[in-house]
Amino acid sequence: MLHVLQAAELLCSSSQWLVDSHTFQTLSQERQDTLYAAEGLFYEPSTYRSLTSQEGKVLAKFALQLYDAGVFVEPDRSTDGFDFLPYSMLTYLADIVPGSLDGLYAQLLTRNLNFQSNSIFREADPETRDHIITLLQTGEPCPYHPTALLSALAWIGDRRVQEQFSQWQYHPEYEQWRQRVTLTPASFAHQAGWELTPDGGRRDLYFHTCYDLPRRTSEEGLRVNLGSLQEEHCGWCGRQLFSCFDCFLSDLPHVSEELFHQRGERLRLPLCLNCFSTQSFRENRVIMDVDFHGKAQWSTSNGARPQHVQVYEPDDIRYIAGLQPQQCFLGPQRRTPYDVNGTHIGGCPNWPQYSDYPICPSCERSMMFVGQWEEVPIYLWEGYLYAFLCLECGLSTIGQQH
Ligand SMILES: [Zn+2]
Ligand SMILES: [Zn+2]
Repeated sequence: MLHVLQAAELLCSSSQWLVDSHTFQTLSQERQDTLYAAEGLFYEPSTYRSLTSQEGKVLAKFALQLYDAGVFVEPDRSTDGFDFLPYSMLTYLADIVPGSLDGLYAQLLTRNLNFQSNSIFREADPETRDHIITLLQTGEPCPYHPTALLSALAWIGDRRVQEQFSQWQYHPEYEQWRQRVTLTPASFAHQAGWELTPDGGRRDLYFHTCYDLPRRTSEEGLRVNLGSLQEEHCGWCGRQLFSCFDCFLSDLPHVSEELFHQRGERLRLPLCLNCFSTQSFRENRVIMDVDFHGKAQWSTSNGARPQHVQVYEPDDIRYIAGLQPQQCFLGPQRRTPYDVNGTHIGGCPNWPQYSDYPICPSCERSMMFVGQWEEVPIYLWEGYLYAFLCLECGLSTIGQQH
């Protein structure tokens, strides 16, 4: 662990060189390489996974120190990438090391640390939460845009936030923030992985248990097959389906209950490679009928094939022949569901673009996120596949982002 803290210390003591690209270039090559190596550590989720809260807190203070020394994103200034460092460190700490930002939230609110995600406020204390609500209500000047403040509140998402969001959503009155924000509180909740219920409560769209899915190297543990060819066919194009996830739950029965609060032997979440590649975001999702006993069929609720869904022939450049099957197994459980990198099952998705939880066509509530496959081996395509499930209706679908 020492080397992580030493690396942070080294970066802080060199901050005067990091704030400007021209100054940095005056350093010797060896010194530049050392600083790049130290920096690289903090973009690796694995760096944070073994930190204690106390070590996390030390690191968070280094991140703030870097920010205060001028290492932050500013248009028209090049800092050889170092300017992302404080944001990245604080986001990883918030997501992976519980308690690491305790006692620092008031300080986080006085700097503009809004970058990519406002999940850094997820564990904020009640005083900071109430301060954020007041800032939104009064329009008092603050380093954050109201969009960032609403997003921070959504990540906090506790009872007080649910009440406030519900009031803003269902009984909209004039509030300062509405002048500058077009999204609704409900869409901020979605970004943070939950939805407002009609009675003003919260329904989570992710499971709180999260496991790594590394490549399978032994016969032990729970098998999860990714990208294997299925017997069933797509009702739109007639091609055979592939699994996004095929989980052999009977290998480790308690895991099914722990992860999904369901008993079962096998959960298959398939996709049609043809129709998936031509489906447009947010509409015409391919829906499958699934259960926890191995059922995985193209659902007749899909109806007739939409016009934009083309059936590509094997000699067409857009034809996707198949997926490279990957045998994985249930790896270590992650400390938090917010550790979103890499292929995993349970926990939260990593959205490179925007949050995109599909709506169940039957009950019209948002579907739950089941798992994410990163670096999918599809020819001429790079990105993520996401599996979603409506437990109540037994329907699933696959999303994509790249
Ligand atoms: Zn199809
Ligand atoms: Zn449903």
